[in-house]
Amino acid sequence: MASEMTPPFIAGNLALDFINTQFGVGDDQHECLCDDRCVVEWLTQAGVLHETLDAPPAGLRELAQALRKNMRALIDSAREGRGVDPDIVNRVLERGNLVERLEWNPKDAVFQRRAYRRDLASESLLQPVAESLVDLLTEEDLALVKQCEASDCILLFHDQTKSHRRRWCSMASCGNRMKAAAHRARKSGR
Ligand SMILES: [Zn+2]
Repeated sequence: MASEMTPPFIAGNLALDFINTQFGVGDDQHECLCDDRCVVEWLTQAGVLHETLDAPPAGLRELAQALRKNMRALIDSAREGRGVDPDIVNRVLERGNLVERLEWNPKDAVFQRRAYRRDLASESLLQPVAESLVDLLTEEDLALVKQCEASDCILLFHDQTKSHRRRWCSMASCGNRMKAAAHRARKSGR
């Protein structure tokens, strides 16, 4: 079903939404970054790619999947209080870092600093995702990075609710599903 393959944007965070492009467990696994074009489409949907590409850069899917794997390992390890090698994240940051320019703004008659995408290579396209992960790992409380509590769901999200009691990727899917299951279990237990 097409709707099932739609990448979920439920995390409230770019890096986590990127990790969530692989979801489902067992026989029900989905891969949203299936080829170079899928990655371009995802970045466009996520609002971090505005350019129209004639063709995706070579090796985009491969790097995107490697980045995602590294990112998930980093989140998992940081939550467990240990570190793993952020090699792919650092490669993307290093080769895809933005280029800053000083420009004259005639309208306001001032010089201003502007940052541009370095080029349209894979690292440059994925740089905003890696940057978002750095922000998450260095500036946010990782206790609020949670995995959906449904037993068959691995989606991650950043709990930004006031009460910090968000439990589900989405109430419409897992929340209601798990509540119905708990209700059935209670009923049959009597
Ligand atoms: Zn879920």
